[in-house]
Amino acid sequence: MANEHFDAIVVGAGPAGSAAAYTMAKAGLSVVLMERGEFAGAKNIFGGVIYRKQLEDIIPEFWKEAPLEREVIEQRLWLLGEQSVVTFGHRNEAFKQPSNCWTGLRVKFDQWFAGKAEQAGALAIYETVATELIREGDRVVGVRTDREDGDLYASVVVVADGVNSLLGKALGIHREWAPDEVSLAVKEVIALPKEKILDRFNLEGNEGVTIELVGQTHGMAGLGFLYTNQESISLGVGVMVSDLKKKNIKPYQVLEGLKAHPMVKRLLQGGETKEYSGHLIPEGGYHSIPSLCGNGWVICGDAAQLVNFVHREGTNLAMTSGRFAGEAIVEAHQRGDYSKAGLAGYDRRIAASFVHKDLKKYQGMHALLRDVDPTIMFDKLPYAVNEAAYQMLLVDGVSKAEKQRMALRGIKNATGGSMNLLKLGYKGWRAING
Ligand SMILES: Cc1cc2nc3c(=O)[nH]c(=O)nc-3n(C[C@H](O)[C@H](O)[C@H](O)COP(=O)(O)OP(=O)(O)OC[C@H]3O[C@@H](n4cnc5c(N)ncnc54)[C@H](O)[C@@H]3O)c2cc1C
Repeated sequence: MANEHFDAIVVGAGPAGSAAAYTMAKAGLSVVLMERGEFAGAKNIFGGVIYRKQLEDIIPEFWKEAPLEREVIEQRLWLLGEQSVVTFGHRNEAFKQPSNCWTGLRVKFDQWFAGKAEQAGALAIYETVATELIREGDRVVGVRTDREDGDLYASVVVVADGVNSLLGKALGIHREWAPDEVSLAVKEVIALPKEKILDRFNLEGNEGVTIELVGQTHGMAGLGFLYTNQESISLGVGVMVSDLKKKNIKPYQVLEGLKAHPMVKRLLQGGETKEYSGHLIPEGGYHSIPSLCGNGWVICGDAAQLVNFVHREGTNLAMTSGRFAGEAIVEAHQRGDYSKAGLAGYDRRIAASFVHKDLKKYQGMHALLRDVDPTIMFDKLPYAVNEAAYQMLLVDGVSKAEKQRMALRGIKNATGGSMNLLKLGYKGWRAING
């Protein structure tokens, strides 16, 4: 590999890297897509929901060929009590025309997406770890790899190596993420016959359901998820690392607890765990986003903390940032200017897009999660809401006015009194409104 020069080297064949490589290769640039895994997706996990719009902007009508699982027609939110659930949700036939999002499995999806970049002309190199950046003065000019004679040179390096971004740290734009800027997620893929999935979730054909689970995380800030695939269920939970440390609980214990919950258990009955995996999720939000480009480099996706954890959107921000990086590099290539100023088109695109706007809107979320006792939002409140629902629906001779008082009292107590409830409401409102 020594002494070869490319227009661009992309490190990481996740959604961000493959989007960048595809965009640049399609425009005729010479591109290397470097991935440490045996193949793209070999080591990657997500929930996971893949959104239409942002991938369609890269590959029109991709759903005709991409390995997707189920077309999500219903999204549910479950507040879990100890043996109960209060459910919210939205099901809509309009989610099919065209589909809003699909469930997917990274091991298939990432291979397909990286394959598209290869078909467009990118040179994919697997089982190769980028170990550091090669610099000349203040410019990045290439990547050192763990292969013998493995230095690669390029006009620009696209850093898309995910949440632990080794290269982001090498650039000096990342520190180690603080334990309250990342959550640790564990996930199982549980095989279940197709007929059982259709039956249990009231689905037909290719339809799918997603369920987000609040509660039963031992009072730690975190969410569970349960998504339907063709012939399996993806079940997982992500919990803030700072809370796991404080409570000294292992994430798999939280997952086991969720699996044992009566409402979850019945959906999984007869299933067989086929895969178990764990991964970090960036949750620092807006204030953790580093500089996005410099002389000879750009950074995208999780490596740049571009995750909207409030809406469990990550792949779409990764793909969009990868596309924007690719487009900006094509412009830089045409001008022959790969300096920070020459690559600023990437910054401008991100700033004008939903990526920046959405993360800015939720910029207070991280502080809310850091400052409010997590047992309130992730334990006491879901319990109180369940208890309120139970009492309101139980016909036991107690007057409705008394029941309403009991329900409100329970919710107030969960937050430590009326003033705290008001404060929490105000803080919550501020946190989700920029
Ligand atoms: C449990 C879980 C559930 C999630 N659910 C959803 C969901 O439902 N919907 C959604 O949109 N998002 C979800 N996300 C977030 C989403 O998965 C990420 O935001 C997205 O994958 C980021 O893409 P990326 O390309 O930036 O990084 P990654 O997907 O992490 O890809 C980085 C790639 O770089 C490679 N790599 C790393 N270091 C090196 C190196 N030094 N050299 C070579 N290669 C390297 C890795 O092997 C990997 O292939 C979830 C995440 C998790 C963990």
